[in-house]
Amino acid sequence: MRYVSTRGAAPELTFEDAMLTGLARDGGLYVPAEIPVMPAGDIAALAGLPYEEVAFRVMRPFTGDTFTDAEFGDLIQRAYAGFGHAARAPLVQLQPNHFLLELFHGPTLAFKDFAMQLIGQMFEAVLTRRGERVTIVGATSGDTGSAAMEAFRGLDAAQVFILYPHGRVSEVQRRQMTTVSEDNAHALAVTGTFDDCQARLKDMFNDFEFRDGVRLAGVNSINWARVLAQVVYYFTAAVSLGAPHRAVSFTVPTGNFGDVFAGYIARRMGLPIERLVVATNQNDILDRTFRSGAYTPAGVKPSISPSMDIEVSSNFERALFDAYDRDGNAVAQLMSELKAGGFGVSQGALGRLREIYASGRASEEETSAMIARANAEFGELLCPHSAVGVHVAQDHLGATPMVTLATAHPAKFPDAVEAATGIRPALPERMADLFDRPERITRVENDLKALEEVIAGQVMA
Ligand SMILES: *Cc1c(COP(=O)(O)O)cnc(C)c1O
Repeated sequence: MRYVSTRGAAPELTFEDAMLTGLARDGGLYVPAEIPVMPAGDIAALAGLPYEEVAFRVMRPFTGDTFTDAEFGDLIQRAYAGFGHAARAPLVQLQPNHFLLELFHGPTLAFKDFAMQLIGQMFEAVLTRRGERVTIVGATSGDTGSAAMEAFRGLDAAQVFILYPHGRVSEVQRRQMTTVSEDNAHALAVTGTFDDCQARLKDMFNDFEFRDGVRLAGVNSINWARVLAQVVYYFTAAVSLGAPHRAVSFTVPTGNFGDVFAGYIARRMGLPIERLVVATNQNDILDRTFRSGAYTPAGVKPSISPSMDIEVSSNFERALFDAYDRDGNAVAQLMSELKAGGFGVSQGALGRLREIYASGRASEEETSAMIARANAEFGELLCPHSAVGVHVAQDHLGATPMVTLATAHPAKFPDAVEAATGIRPALPERMADLFDRPERITRVENDLKALEEVIAGQVMA
């Protein structure tokens, strides 16, 4: 299996190298040169299997000869052993023909754990075999960072640095990053927004001297291996609702477009997904784009669903690549227009996107109202991100079963949940001491050189 860049000007890589590299050297994102199709009989045979077994069968065609079957099976077992639910991704019913896929039973209570726990295991295995060490730098709007620090803490082969926007993540999210005590894990509080953190991260990858000097590796949602790990739960959910014999739709609370793009990959693999509904909060660039074709960032407005406070949605580039018939030059052109303020999606490409994706947005008031309604009517406490999804899904319910992804546990965002319902959700027992652990934070300006100095200083030390 070969991987190609969405901008068409970087070398083709194996799974192993695409995973270690993250961002391609031409600024693009790696995608498989072709998507393997799973025959309907093989999809039907997934029914009733443990999550780990489905994970193996769905991901195996993408990993080439990076791992033996036994090794890969082992990494998957280890990745999900720390989850607090035997089903890993249980499905509960909310309304007639509307289901909630609970993706928050991992160690940091958000869906990011599905990919990050596995990628931690895969990095350690590959780097140990190669006798190499890397520096992992990630930007986070909250959940990626905590999941990454949790996944990489204490591993020998990697140091991990997480850039998060100072004062713009929830207290639980911050503490999950700043209370990690292992020496190889560092939380950097950047003066700025998530988009600033993501932009500085991209700058670091484009500074080849720094990149090679510290052996920079990325685990942000641009990393193909993360997208791949997220494909699995689309299969487990759809198969338990009758796929491949029956089509299913999904509504996905969206920021960087990684999670919903994983649904698109599942669809390309042959899973009968009718619609992928992209749900945004008031930072609604994606909803505006699907409606008008104009991708014009308007600046981030902080919301009660902070993990979706994003106006430059990095994985959308992967969707554009396919919508433009895999024309890397066309994508590179759009991305340079984006630097100058925005771009328009061509009519042909927009038409192709609309065959697969629908979209909707939830205002702050609508999000709170849905948290309250879900508690009163469906008996479910939703985190604000999941509530955005459930709100948007209401416009897309019908004969096809709808699955809305619950992307975080309500206790990760207790203030918003309490404001809407009067109930303060408790952390699960296993992390009840989070507020008693000491914090370790490094404040850094929104400045490339300042960040590079902090990171290089630690790596060289
Ligand atoms: C990351 C995140 C999202 C957005 O997912 P993307 O893959 O970036 O679109 C939604 N909800 C929660 C809780 C998240 O952590």
